Amino acid sequence: MAQGIGYEIDFLPVGNGSRSGDAIAVRYGYPGSYKVMVYDGGTKESGQALVDHIKTYYGTTRVDYVVNSHPDGDHASGLSVVLEQLEVGELWMHQPWNYSAVIRDYFKDGRITHNSLEERLKEKMGAAHALEKLANEKGIPIFEPFQGSMIGDFEVMSPDKDWYVHELIPEFSKSPEQKAREEASLSFAASTMKSITEMARSAIEWVAEHWHIESLRDSVETSSENESSVILYGVIDGRGILLTGDVGVRGLHEAADYAEAQGISIPAGLKFSQIPHHGSRNNVSTTALDRILGPRKAVNDGVQSFSSFVSVGKESTTHPRKAVTNAFIRRGGTVVETRGEVKCHRHNMDSRGWGAASPLPFSNEVESWD
Ligand SMILES: [Zn+2]
Repeated sequence: MAQGIGYEIDFLPVGNGSRSGDAIAVRYGYPGSYKVMVYDGGTKESGQALVDHIKTYYGTTRVDYVVNSHPDGDHASGLSVVLEQLEVGELWMHQPWNYSAVIRDYFKDGRITHNSLEERLKEKMGAAHALEKLANEKGIPIFEPFQGSMIGDFEVMSPDKDWYVHELIPEFSKSPEQKAREEASLSFAASTMKSITEMARSAIEWVAEHWHIESLRDSVETSSENESSVILYGVIDGRGILLTGDVGVRGLHEAADYAEAQGISIPAGLKFSQIPHHGSRNNVSTTALDRILGPRKAVNDGVQSFSSFVSVGKESTTHPRKAVTNAFIRRGGTVVETRGEVKCHRHNMDSRGWGAASPLPFSNEVESWD
């Protein structure tokens, strides 16, 4: 039997194809008084799998904290199933539509009303809005996860509330005209580029990468919805645990700035990290990872000080990017991918008799950027 304080972090598979999402269950504490947290629920199917997983392996029908990292459907949809079928203590999610009156002034276009902005955000973030409605119907209290909030033993490191309200929400709510223009140019590009893209897909270009040369770029960008992802950091039994959702470089720097200001060294105690956005190379940079995970090691000494998990679709051929896997290994991480299976990381918890997950190797070739 497990004794003392422990934790287990379970990444459930999301989707059967190449698409990815996140469905993560965490249980921690002392035997007999465990806390359960769900961080993202993936699709409806993975939401059901989370419910079954919690009943089977955690032996409970109660979830203390449900956290939605950001409003994208592949992270929010499955959480509705958790709220429907389990007893939930607290729901932590952003409600950007509540700020439409505050940010309305940023739009020079006087025709935009407070209500239309609110409706636009609710429509665009349908899965998250449905989750909010369900929580209200069921009387589950909703809290917004901003920097400094405590969710059980986990602290929200990003986003900072002012950054979220005044920069990210206005980016979420681009005018429909602007979006239509962007989509038109995208679909034009898509039709002319389609055959080229298909060729590229069947033959990914590979370039050499070495231990001492990292090919990540500092100028990468991801959507502002992804950047709004809730970064959680908790220390349990002296071991740091980091959850990142689909956050990008801006959010990682926010978290690092906050940690520094609080005198917290994330790299010093890190034992577990989620790899953001399914291992996309547009969400991490050398500078951001040096601050969050710690410096690159001069040589590959084979000593790994923390585990990192990445949610990828069963048939994904592109994720995680090898340059990203390498970057985590270079800083002392092992990298384990879900790829259609449940992957579990545990400390001081009873074994389920599952075999050890095999980590991905360091690659001497990575996908070319061009
Ligand atoms: Zn995602």
